[in-house]
Amino acid sequence: MAGLLAGRMEREIASEKSNSIKATVPLLILFGSQTGTSEKLARDILKQSKVQGCDSRVLDASAFATIDWKKETNLFVVTSTYGDGDMPDNAQPFWDWLQTEAVNSLAHIRFSVLALGDTNYEHFCAAGKKIDARLEQLGATRIHPLAECDVDYEAKAKSWMISALGVLTSATEPETSLSISATAAEVESGVEKYSKTNPFPARLLTNHKLSGEGSAKETRHFEISLEGSGLAYEAGDALGVYPTNCDALVADVLHALGFDGEEAVPTPSGGELPLRKALTTTFDITKPSPDFLKKIAERNSTLRELLGPGRAEDLRKWLWGREVIDLLITETELHFSPGEFVSILKRLAPRLYSISSSPKAHAGQVHATISVVRYDSHGRGRKGVASTFLADRVGEESHVPVFIQPSHGFRLPANGDTPIIMVGPGTGIAPFRAFLHERRSMGAKGGNWLLFGEQRAATDFYYREELEKMRADGHLTKLSTAFSRDQQEKIYVQHRMAEQAAEIWAWLQDGAHFYVCGDASRMAKDVDAALHSAIATAGNLTGEKAAEYVTRLKSEKRYQRDVY
Ligand code: NDP
Repeated sequence: MAGLLAGRMEREIASEKSNSIKATVPLLILFGSQTGTSEKLARDILKQSKVQGCDSRVLDASAFATIDWKKETNLFVVTSTYGDGDMPDNAQPFWDWLQTEAVNSLAHIRFSVLALGDTNYEHFCAAGKKIDARLEQLGATRIHPLAECDVDYEAKAKSWMISALGVLTSATEPETSLSISATAAEVESGVEKYSKTNPFPARLLTNHKLSGEGSAKETRHFEISLEGSGLAYEAGDALGVYPTNCDALVADVLHALGFDGEEAVPTPSGGELPLRKALTTTFDITKPSPDFLKKIAERNSTLRELLGPGRAEDLRKWLWGREVIDLLITETELHFSPGEFVSILKRLAPRLYSISSSPKAHAGQVHATISVVRYDSHGRGRKGVASTFLADRVGEESHVPVFIQPSHGFRLPANGDTPIIMVGPGTGIAPFRAFLHERRSMGAKGGNWLLFGEQRAATDFYYREELEKMRADGHLTKLSTAFSRDQQEKIYVQHRMAEQAAEIWAWLQDGAHFYVCGDASRMAKDVDAALHSAIATAGNLTGEKAAEYVTRLKSEKRYQRDVY
């Protein structure tokens, strides 16, 4: 596997080199990417750097050990931040290495870091900031300041690219016609097809509840038509959905502001829209943005204090269940012009969902398995923007604007004989349904073991019939379930792993790939601990050796995660 990857990388590098126009400035671009955004950015930067005369190449950060660091002189790192301020999985080994004593000095290297993140999270761009600081500590020279990009990253990333490449190639104002948000293939062909910047208006074919009567959850199965879009995907990819806000909430916001909605406001893309339309389609009117909070804090002393240093956790707690509308209603003395109001909102970002279908089994369609968010807080009913958009607001006449987000780091083994273990509680089952359909369509013979968990078997056993059929005909070699609330004590997927440690070990020794999808904050960490412990117990290894085994699984791309 590692050999195959290295071969592929070499071929990529060779073909990228042959495209070079005037190779003068060497440049290595490393990416740390979980959902593929940083990887795509890195490849966009690669193209532009070649136009500007760099002899550049792009590498996955997990390939850091194949690099002869003594020979490198210029390094760009493009990385997202994952989970709770963590490195993306593929950048973790690079980060671990950067902190070891094995890295003597990188004083000969000039660098710059492009960090991607989300200001809604406390540890905004933490991965990029850590790498930036550590490179400096190791003696490397920062030739351009770190750029910290929010979900609305395109403009800032492009500006970073232009100026960082400018410094590197000593060009003053380099020409760039490259659109940072178009895919490499789109740039190559000169035609931008349906993509993140030009989503396909898709028809919603199916919307049905997977959760049974009496369930505490509302998890739904959606089928969306891709007919005529030219969009293609692979099992493991994610579906991007651009939602619109709920009309009733837009009306409440307009009412709180005292506007009728016809006022023209500027949009982030440089156009103009009536305020009602802009609040429906373009701006985030649920989660308060940092700029909006600052504005509210001008009149609200509680919030002012909570925005002070060291209060991040208190602020997070205070904000739980509070949305833009709550703060507008409380601060009635605060007045905005329509333009001023939208200028402190964030852009309504697309949501990504792990695809639960295989294109081989459902040609022209894409399926998603989504838990719909509805709850009450501070006397109001709340709705998750995208999940209720799909569940309630997309009608026969309307469309769902979609795009495909490739996820190169979450893929089935190329060899169909390779066994796979899939741990997917809750909506984490989504990509594994896709994997199972894909392997069936390909006639793959490798063993398939699914560990699924939810609250109750009677109401939350998603795709039960389908899975039991696959189990009965042998396609699903093993199905282990953990229904947490069917008995007094909690039983989770990791408990099933502990019970079957010997079998997990045997499958791994047989070359199995191990996949995890679902909750990042608790489940993925507990499953990781359970994996270490199963390997140590059944493999009769010390904790240290078990950790080395897991690291090897990761570097061989045999331990892959899609967690959120
Ligand atoms: P959950 O992960 O919430 O629950 C699935 C099963 O996992 C339940 O049986 C649950 O048990 C169990 N579980 C709870 N804690 C652990 C643990 N530490 N280890 C293993 N299993 C555990 O499923 P969902 O699909 O509903 O949610 C998945 C993730 O997606 C969550 O992080 C959730 O917050 C997030 N989410 C996000 C949404 C969004 O719009 N952004 C919408 C819906 C979900 P029990 O509940 O009995 O403890």
